[in-house]
Amino acid sequence: MSDTKVYLLDGGTLVIDGFHAFWNRGPGGELRFPCYAVLVEHADGTYIFDTGYDHDHVMKVLPFEKPLQTPEQTIPGALARIGKKPQDVDYVINSHYHFDHCGGNKYLTEACTLCHAKELEACSCHQPFEHLGYSDLSFAPDLAKAKAGAKDAAEPALDIYTPKFETLTGDQEIAKGLWLFETPGHTAGHYSMMVELKNRRPMLFTADACYSQKNMDMMCISSFHLDPTASLKSMQRLKDLAEKYDAELFYSHDPESFGDYIKAPGFYS
Ligand SMILES: [Zn+2]
Repeated sequence: MSDTKVYLLDGGTLVIDGFHAFWNRGPGGELRFPCYAVLVEHADGTYIFDTGYDHDHVMKVLPFEKPLQTPEQTIPGALARIGKKPQDVDYVINSHYHFDHCGGNKYLTEACTLCHAKELEACSCHQPFEHLGYSDLSFAPDLAKAKAGAKDAAEPALDIYTPKFETLTGDQEIAKGLWLFETPGHTAGHYSMMVELKNRRPMLFTADACYSQKNMDMMCISSFHLDPTASLKSMQRLKDLAEKYDAELFYSHDPESFGDYIKAPGFYS
């Protein structure tokens, strides 16, 4: 049995305002930040945690986020750099269904899709102020239709498959040493992921429960949230988990930390 490996797949960058990144704190002004996917090669299969954004979708729906993404930063391009094809991915895990975390799902047609039950529900039935976050449902035409009220739904752009969903609730060890921890607040059914590895400390991927080290240091959440009080509790939970498991925190959108992370084709093991 081979040891687990973790690859970080660079997915390009987006821009938001500083007041969105640091709610009610700022400072304001453009903040360009990275997006990435986490590929886990595990004895039980190949998993991918989040899939970044789709460039065309962002240009169409929220161009003010000024996406910068090369072909190598799309899911097929990033997988090719480590000698893999989209069909090699067995499981997609989505921390949540914001557009910048599920944009590459549509390529992973052989995978079973795992997410929190509440998150799947939120895709088609969310609060009005979450509409931009949940704007890319291209990977799941049935959900897009449910959201649009069945008959008004636009046809999906791709010759699309219908994904197999498996929903979860509570904390779960989905494979040996591969943990999902509930961290709600940013969205209804948000999961963070921890991977235990042979040769180093566990890696704890916050996803959007905490954008950056600076957010954590300030205990300052982003302005995109369903429930700010729950968001803060989840940040504290991540701190506590990191301490309990001696895990290293990897943030979802941290321009500073991302520079230090090992990106694919390099990997952690
Ligand atoms: Zn998000």
